[in-house]
Amino acid sequence: MKITEIDFYLCHYPLPAPFMPSWIPGFPQHNNSCLITVVKTDEGIEGYSAMVGFLDESRGLVGMMRPFLVGRDPTRIENIVQVIRSAHYLGYKAFFMEVAMWDILGKKAGLPIYKLLGGGDGRIKAYASSGEIQEPKKRVEYIKEIQKMGFRAAKLRIRSMEFEKDIAVVEAVRNAVGDDFDIMVDANQGWPIHLGLVEWPRWDLKRAMRTAAVLEDLDVRWIEEPLFKHDYDGMAALRASTTIPIAGGEFNTDLYEFRDLIGGGCLDIVQPDVTLAGGILMGKKIAGMAEAANLQFSPHTWTNGLGFAANLQLMGSVHICPYCEFPFEPPGWVPEARDFMLKEPFTVGKDGYITVPDKPGLGVELDMEKILAHGEKL
Ligand SMILES: [Mg+2]
Repeated sequence: MKITEIDFYLCHYPLPAPFMPSWIPGFPQHNNSCLITVVKTDEGIEGYSAMVGFLDESRGLVGMMRPFLVGRDPTRIENIVQVIRSAHYLGYKAFFMEVAMWDILGKKAGLPIYKLLGGGDGRIKAYASSGEIQEPKKRVEYIKEIQKMGFRAAKLRIRSMEFEKDIAVVEAVRNAVGDDFDIMVDANQGWPIHLGLVEWPRWDLKRAMRTAAVLEDLDVRWIEEPLFKHDYDGMAALRASTTIPIAGGEFNTDLYEFRDLIGGGCLDIVQPDVTLAGGILMGKKIAGMAEAANLQFSPHTWTNGLGFAANLQLMGSVHICPYCEFPFEPPGWVPEARDFMLKEPFTVGKDGYITVPDKPGLGVELDMEKILAHGEKL
């Protein structure tokens, strides 16, 4: 099989309401912006993937990917990874392209990717992943809403300037849900985006330790990204100081960074995102390292519907994944906008579990009408 052509669509799908991501303080996000790729082959099979793409930075990547990949066999994925890794060294975040190769391989084999990777039971408990810093009252309303949807777990953002505000929101939610509900927290300190719009808190080890010490009483399931993504010593010291599991890795890349995170005793829950960390094959290798270190594994999914689909397939292939992140922050970040490029948005069952698609490849179909209506072909 050979890759004959690669189509790219830079899309800006309008959100139903502005969304204020805690990871870009003060910045209202109005669109789900992404670069969608359709990799075509001489056998007529197509593979899909997408990356987050805001402005024109995607154009250089598009120019490089075509000469790098056209003419190659998409089913030789280890070989493709080496080529994409070269683009990464040259400054292009191209690892998401690997996902399209798995989509092609799965369609060729007639199997979903998670089964090609070993196959777990195909169902994962989901947690609602909020994205904004909210007052306790508003956050409790959110929790009531997601409980009705079936969720039995949620992740809160704790990134206020004052320590007390971080604690207050967790306390309010714990009081509202009782004991039989998992609460995760995310401090978003791993890859701070600072546009100078508003103040944001820069955590150090002492703030992280102080927060963890108080959250122990509130039975928090994990603390995510409490420190910078390369502060391996800090994460290890924090982890040794608390009984709360430490999670991270969503913006770390390639095997060596995860070797250092895992070997350095930084994490309890390893969270690569296949579209950022190196692809599905890399994700499976990282899962193996995590398993050998007796850690858990719960990939980051907050990009878009295709990124979610790719990470979900990987989750379905391992047995150390306790939770699937389900990005959800109405009214702005809702499944219809998050997954606009898919014919069917992902949903969670009434039992709070998500089912890994069982169709070949990623198991998703593109909504080309919406992609063309909101995208520019590059
Ligand atoms: Mg996170």
